[in-house]
Amino acid sequence: MNIHEYQAKELLAKFGIAVPAGHAALSVDEAVAAAKQLPGPLYVVKAQIHAGGRGKGKFKELGAEAKGGVRLAKSVEDVESNAREMLGNTLVTVQTGDVGKEVNRLYVTDGVDIAKEYYLSLLVDRATGRIAFVVSTEGGMDIEAVAHDTPEKITTFTVDPAGGFQPHHGRAVAFALKLKGSLNKQAQVLAKQLYDAFIATDCSMLEINPLVETDDGKLVVLDAKMSFDSNALYRHPDIEALRDTTEEDPAEVEASEYDLAYIKLDGNIGCMVNGAGLAMATMDIIKLNGAFPANFLDVGGGASREKVTAAFKIILKDPAVEGILVNIFGGIMKCDVIADGIVAAARDVNLQVPLVVRLEGTNVEQGKAILDNSGLAIVSADDLGDAARKIVAEVKKAA
Ligand code: GDP
Ligand code: MG
Repeated sequence: MNIHEYQAKELLAKFGIAVPAGHAALSVDEAVAAAKQLPGPLYVVKAQIHAGGRGKGKFKELGAEAKGGVRLAKSVEDVESNAREMLGNTLVTVQTGDVGKEVNRLYVTDGVDIAKEYYLSLLVDRATGRIAFVVSTEGGMDIEAVAHDTPEKITTFTVDPAGGFQPHHGRAVAFALKLKGSLNKQAQVLAKQLYDAFIATDCSMLEINPLVETDDGKLVVLDAKMSFDSNALYRHPDIEALRDTTEEDPAEVEASEYDLAYIKLDGNIGCMVNGAGLAMATMDIIKLNGAFPANFLDVGGGASREKVTAAFKIILKDPAVEGILVNIFGGIMKCDVIADGIVAAARDVNLQVPLVVRLEGTNVEQGKAILDNSGLAIVSADDLGDAARKIVAEVKKAA
């Protein structure tokens, strides 16, 4: 799960980390009120969307000359006019794709006088199974280019979980940033605070870009991006409450409400499967037969009729779906329950695309009877190979 920059900074501040003062705003009035609470005379008005690259982004509705999603403002009036221009418009950045994201929320912060920009991030490194620090003197808006063109300017090391964060890790961060004196000490303290915040919140990624050195010699977190391990959210209701579903794919949000693991893909054959392994195998066998899956969907082990119905509807909402393959092994789950759900959903949505169902396991005969007696044009399949061949053929026939 991702959160907004302003939320990440508020969270980091609780760990003693220095961030510029600021207030979130949902309207021009709120942006003005936010600016009035700050000392000035420099302010920053920042679009709050779940995507980076805002500074270099472009607003779809504004001309090519218009400024991006991070703007410096020199007065409260300036904050007001920028807020008016940004709110409700669509920001396109390298991370949003061409459709962009509508800006409905701003963060008005105290402007910082920057002496130098650095890069610092922590993430779960799956290769080593440890938390990795990624550090570079080349912070700012082009870290991807730095990684590509001059990878030697990026330092990476991991922390052994058995020992946890040690003072030498802090020194390694400060050294990689080439900092001296007080700044060097500040970097060591910050590295420890970030590590503590990362562990305490079950973070999966924490990126500070840029971390800045101010004109008066302070290290300040100027931009922050945090993602959390969804499987650990039950331990953090306060973090879960920060979720902004308007920033997520609507079908995936709906699926998560029913506790379904759904991921949209590019193909035309919708899949409803129980168990992640079987779902992967189903996707593979569809490809083996020359077609592509429209989604990954695992309804889980003990899915109810309501869950199956919801899953079916979510698959069908995707306009790219030209056929559906249901592949269920009824172990804990019973085939008749699945069949009931399929029939109810197919009726409900007035199914127009071919449907192939392969059921196996507990109550399979009852399940097949429910499908056969439904009066719906459901093609039943005997095994996984047969099911994949049938759905690919049905989709071709319908085209
Ligand atoms: P991003 O483009 O989405 O990564 O947004 P950032 O928050 O990183 O801001 C982009 C850039 O705007 C930063 O790299 C800075 O150069 C600049 N910027 C952001 N806040 C300030 C500020 O307080 N003062 C100054 N002078 N520049 C800022
Ligand atoms: Mg940034």
